[in-house]
Amino acid sequence: MKYAAREERTVLEIAGRRIGGGHFALIAGPCTVESREQTLETACAVRDAGATMFRGGAYKPRTSPYSFQGLGQEGLRLLAEAKRETGLPIVTELMDVRDLDAVLEVADVVQIGARNMQNYSLLTEVGRAGAPVLLKRGLSSTLEELLMAAEYILAEGNPAVILCERGIRTFETAYRFTLDISGVPVLKELTHLPVVVDPSHAAGRRELVGPLSLAAAAAGADGVIVEVHPRPEEAICDGPQSLRTGDFEAYAERVRAAAAVAGNTLVEAFV
Ligand code: PEP
Ligand code: MN
Repeated sequence: MKYAAREERTVLEIAGRRIGGGHFALIAGPCTVESREQTLETACAVRDAGATMFRGGAYKPRTSPYSFQGLGQEGLRLLAEAKRETGLPIVTELMDVRDLDAVLEVADVVQIGARNMQNYSLLTEVGRAGAPVLLKRGLSSTLEELLMAAEYILAEGNPAVILCERGIRTFETAYRFTLDISGVPVLKELTHLPVVVDPSHAAGRRELVGPLSLAAAAAGADGVIVEVHPRPEEAICDGPQSLRTGDFEAYAERVRAAAAVAGNTLVEAFV
């Protein structure tokens, strides 16, 4: 490793929110942007409960080509509106380099999804673009492979990489993926980059999201990225694993306390 192993801890500053080096980020929002109402309702609810960033996909990597693929440009427009309305920085996924400019207009953090972790030309392009990147671990990737993927971005002169553990494939079938909590301290040992955890995609069902989030925060993660929906039963995508907006404030309080156990502080904004 040439860049990821640097000693000094990276603290990123994203539109007035710090992440890393003792600053804990609570990134929350729907799996996918579905409508104006759903997007704004969720964004306001998570902001009021103390979230530091808003997540939501406009371009969705779906297992089936027949599933909803995201609202695309219209989704980006709704995310921009959510940002204006709440002041929350936006985390949204880029799947195709042809959408880079459009995504960069809205995104404060560009998400590279698990399925694209080893899409090296995409990594190089987001590295060149210079915007902060949230890089998700591939479904069956080792920590070493995740760090090497991060190197592609860092090697282009972009130091703003956030690593994300989101569960890996194992023989266990009782939940969607196995959340590799061990990966959190190990990544923090190997790299200076902030490490966040996505409990939602690992869990696959909402009942597990709370306990996994507490475990991640207590294990020293620099943040969590979690799915939230005002009416999960109506969600187009990942409803069963989405927290209800009404439950989010209590959830945020518990996560904040667990982060504090590990010496990390969740603050909303410093500007
Ligand atoms: C997501 O965060 O919406 C997503 C699709 O996650 P992953 O790439 O980890 O499956
Ligand atoms: Mn999802």
